[in-house]
Amino acid sequence: MSNNLVTVAYIAAIVLFILSLGGLSTQETAKRGNLYGIVGMVLAIGATALGTGATNYGALFAMIVPGVIIGAVLASRVDMTEMPELVAMLHSFVGLAAVLVGIGNYLQPASELGAELVGVEETIHLIEIYVGVFIGAVTFTGSVIAFGKLKAIISSKPLTLPGRHLLNIGLLAGTVALGFVFMGSSGGVQGTSGLPALLGMCGLAGLLGAHLVAAIGGADMPVVISMLNSYSGWAAAAAGFMLSNDLLIVTGALVGSSGAILSIIMCQAMNRSFISVILGGFGQGAVSASGGSSAPGGTATSTTVEDTVELLNEASSVIITPGYGMAVAQAQHAVADITKILRDRGTTVRFGIHPVAGRLPGHMNVLLAEANVPYDIVLEMDEINEDFGKTDVVLVIGANDTVNPSAMEDPTSPIAGMPVLEVWNAANVIVMKRGLSVGYAGVDNPLFYKDNSKMLFGDAKANVSAILAQMQTVDAKVPAMAG
Ligand code: NDP
Repeated sequence: MSNNLVTVAYIAAIVLFILSLGGLSTQETAKRGNLYGIVGMVLAIGATALGTGATNYGALFAMIVPGVIIGAVLASRVDMTEMPELVAMLHSFVGLAAVLVGIGNYLQPASELGAELVGVEETIHLIEIYVGVFIGAVTFTGSVIAFGKLKAIISSKPLTLPGRHLLNIGLLAGTVALGFVFMGSSGGVQGTSGLPALLGMCGLAGLLGAHLVAAIGGADMPVVISMLNSYSGWAAAAAGFMLSNDLLIVTGALVGSSGAILSIIMCQAMNRSFISVILGGFGQGAVSASGGSSAPGGTATSTTVEDTVELLNEASSVIITPGYGMAVAQAQHAVADITKILRDRGTTVRFGIHPVAGRLPGHMNVLLAEANVPYDIVLEMDEINEDFGKTDVVLVIGANDTVNPSAMEDPTSPIAGMPVLEVWNAANVIVMKRGLSVGYAGVDNPLFYKDNSKMLFGDAKANVSAILAQMQTVDAKVPAMAG
């Protein structure tokens, strides 16, 4: 394929990636957005493989074929609740790729480079390699730690080592110092003389990435994931500079900047400082890693399906706040059926969605859309928070951190300051979960012990289905009695 054709294919792929990002911004256009992304990626890989730069097709196919098969099998087996783990793992691959491309590029003899680099150009290229390997290493180890936290292999609580900010500054200073050694020992040219400094920096950057993410607590993980998404974009852009590949530079910059914008939006929604989160909690007040200053007192009162149905029968306004447990139980269809019955009877039913409910941005919206809950009764936290005080019954279905009052009441709580759904202001709160255990952030929840809260213990789908069955029986009897 001629260079001109490759350029045309690259421009088309870039346009498709931009359309893809635009499409992913709303639920209605998300499928189309995905399709644009897939077509753009096929075009990008095809043009690169058929371009003048690729010569060893045996090696290329020996890598691509198993990669495609392993990726397709793993992705098809992943449950939606495991998506963040998959995303974190994929980010780690991008980081690792940038590190390997950087080291490989440094070791490549100058004569094999497409363009002969001399003087300042070669110096700039060495800086590109150094910066690319640094971003790649931070992304790689940070993503591996994020994967471990999301998979619950590593505790989701923040790691608060003594002097942790000094440690970060020290690691950063070490990478800068090694940068001077690298440039000096390389003598301005590629080869192997600067390799020890490059590998040394790679180790320090890896420690920095791991430590920055380990220091971030459970409830802030959504921001960390989108931030690592952004880092992986910049790592890809850095690889693009090293390989002089314009498409990789533009695509990396698109991912990097959209990930950064998403991180800022999530930080604003969760009342967190973006700078503090990316610096591993720098400047944050003292938080207790063990989950707040004191365990909530009082006794939790349990309730039954029958009593819950009675409350719902009498209610004129109901708000449902779903969380991760609804996704695990796959209770959304039964929830949608209850909603329909109540609305048909004239009860006002709305959903309150916290920005980080579940395990991925928009998780609850996707599940409710899948169950055909009308969009106009699914409201964001800010739109509904003031209405809880005027509501008869709130059904908390598998949510925990997102309805935890200690975020507002306990300044030492790891989730202090995070806006939450203020469900406790309603007349009656029914909390559906299997026990009194903590949510993702590992924080005790005083909501369970409030006077107007009742716990409906058990699997969310089993309980919601039982409520639905009883409501259907009542509705079936009413016309018969009337007749
Ligand atoms: P939480 O993780 O706080 O709590 C979910 C609750 O669901 C658990 O306490 C559990 O209690 C219950 N549960 C689990 N399985 C079932 C089941 N089968 N039936 C009934 N209940 C069940 O959920 P939230 O949605 O409130 O909060 C999300 C948390 O995840 C936040 O801390 C957020 O920061 C974090 N997070 C969010 C991401 C995102 O992008 N949205 C990404 C990564 C993390 P029990 O065991 O007692 O049943």
